[in-house]
Amino acid sequence: MLIDSHAHLDSPRYSEDREALLHRAWQAGVRTVLSIGIGEGPDTMHQALEISRQYKGKPEIPKILASAGIHPHEASLADETAYSKLDQLLSEPEVIACGEIGLDYYYDNSPRDMQKTAFRRQMEIAAARRQPIIIHCRPSENSTNAWDETLDLLEESWKPTGLGGILHCFTGEWDHARRALDAGFLISFAGNITFPKAQPIRDAAALVPLDSILVETDAPFLAPVPNRGKRNEPAFVREVAAKLAEVRQITPELASSRTTENFHRFFGTAPQPETRSN
Ligand SMILES: [Zn+2]
Ligand SMILES: [Zn+2]
Repeated sequence: MLIDSHAHLDSPRYSEDREALLHRAWQAGVRTVLSIGIGEGPDTMHQALEISRQYKGKPEIPKILASAGIHPHEASLADETAYSKLDQLLSEPEVIACGEIGLDYYYDNSPRDMQKTAFRRQMEIAAARRQPIIIHCRPSENSTNAWDETLDLLEESWKPTGLGGILHCFTGEWDHARRALDAGFLISFAGNITFPKAQPIRDAAALVPLDSILVETDAPFLAPVPNRGKRNEPAFVREVAAKLAEVRQITPELASSRTTENFHRFFGTAPQPETRSN
């Protein structure tokens, strides 16, 4: 049993075969997928919720939960309409987190001051709705700038809420993970943990306490080895869990069950019954 804690199921790259790939995920042992609701920008951040509802109760399809948020890439599009849409989405029962939000100084698709404003504002909206947050953080090349600023903001504005969250697709150093753990976060590892040059990610994955780790695909991006470079999909979270197991010197079954338990404990969600429901 596995959980993909971060997938963009609303990607247009899945428009032809979404149901088939969800069934493949089920066959790979994936029972829950958190579908990230950033859309192609604020106008479409409701799509993840729609997918959650579309597949609700379907046999041999994982349970789909949703988030909603404005990605730092689209921070320049964050206006009052977008914020009120986000607030409304966070009140829906299938929406269990605000995200992915944060800072991306690698692409700088939105000016950094706007990224920080959108990040802060979304933390306020999520706090008022008592929802945890999912963090996207990517620094400039050969820098830790976005990590340093993200963690400062989390410690100052988020830690006091006690709501915690997830650092998704973790690529930072152990000290960044340690600060996030202290602020009540889980650390989620993605397909890049399997990349040959990603030893620093594996080093961090060896140190994070086993009860604070999640696995994800970030599909359709970042497919793990041996599918690297191809379109990613939730079934491939199995490769992420297998690499985590290797790094931790535990069985793949234990890596799967512990990360699944961590997700359910954090979100207060129930595991899927193994019996087929129609
Ligand atoms: Zn991200
Ligand atoms: Zn993502």
